[in-house]
Amino acid sequence: MAKSPQDLVRQEILGIQAYHVSDSGGMVKLDAMENPYRLPPEMQSELGALLARVEINRYPDPTGRELREQLRQKMRVPDGMEVLLGNGSDDLIQMITLALAKPAAVVMYPDPTFVMYKLNAILCGMKPVGVQSNPDFTLDTKAFLAAIREHNPALVFIAYPNNPTGALFEERDIEEIIRAANGLVVLDEAYHAFAQKSFMSRLAEFPNLVVMRTVSKLGLAGIRLGYLAGAPAWLQEFNKVRQAYNVNVLTQAAASYVLGKLDVLEAQAARIRGERKSLGDGLSALPGVTVYPTAANFFLARVPDGPRSFASLKSQGVLVRSFHGAHPMLSNCLRITVGTPDENRVLLSAMREAL
Ligand code: PMP
Repeated sequence: MAKSPQDLVRQEILGIQAYHVSDSGGMVKLDAMENPYRLPPEMQSELGALLARVEINRYPDPTGRELREQLRQKMRVPDGMEVLLGNGSDDLIQMITLALAKPAAVVMYPDPTFVMYKLNAILCGMKPVGVQSNPDFTLDTKAFLAAIREHNPALVFIAYPNNPTGALFEERDIEEIIRAANGLVVLDEAYHAFAQKSFMSRLAEFPNLVVMRTVSKLGLAGIRLGYLAGAPAWLQEFNKVRQAYNVNVLTQAAASYVLGKLDVLEAQAARIRGERKSLGDGLSALPGVTVYPTAANFFLARVPDGPRSFASLKSQGVLVRSFHGAHPMLSNCLRITVGTPDENRVLLSAMREAL
């Protein structure tokens, strides 16, 4: 008799849930840390014309050589370091994890954090070890260093700043962790445009460090492009795990065009940083709401009744992300992306109703 998925699929996969994304049609979309601004109309037209000329009948340049070179210059990747492209940084997380997935090897990360580190550890048969952060979501550095000694992780992921908390861990704590680890440390700088802090220029100081970035939060979430910078000895191994044509021709062409006008996206990020301040003030003034410090383009806010507020916001047409039930430290927590001034006003007035 034919076997069922329950018989054949690995136990650890049967035990997890697919990554959930809420339907956002017609909503004020503040759930996914996207840049709320479009490209200016003249850039949209130029990009449209350029994409029309792309040879979609041909496979992409497998390693995206030109785009890597452009990223190296625009993102100030130090000389001597390589760049590897991913279909989003999610793809890079998977490549790195797969490459280091020796049986029983440990993947370590501060907890709570971005779920993909744990998910990929599980998918690759590694042992995920989360180290609980302090109640205010700052890094418990002592506990982390003790966990490194105890578990000797092959791989450490640190989101800098962290998702979903927004916390930017202290630079000297990160340094201490990199020095203490025997394994590879991946510093995930997905939100670097909003934190304006980076280890990119310091890569050469740490042989076990790689820096991962994405263009998603910068305004290009739809094209799916992540990049990893680090020593060639690491990246050439990860490159073996990469799907041959992981970054498609349209993505390579669009990214290359927009990177040529990076100042436009940087100006949008600066606007978002300005709006972050007013939204943070507005949220903090709401009764019973605790807003945690953020260096990213979103806020984590604890409300008296998370599920009720989430449902009320949704019924008012505002989509945020609820973390209630996702982690014990995140009970009644909502994650709210900084939107346009108008969107933020709508959010704040909906929040008054939702509390
Ligand atoms: N790292 C962190 C910390 C993130 O928050 C996210 C997006 N939620 C990612 C990586 C994935 O980004 P990408 O769109 O490049 O896959």
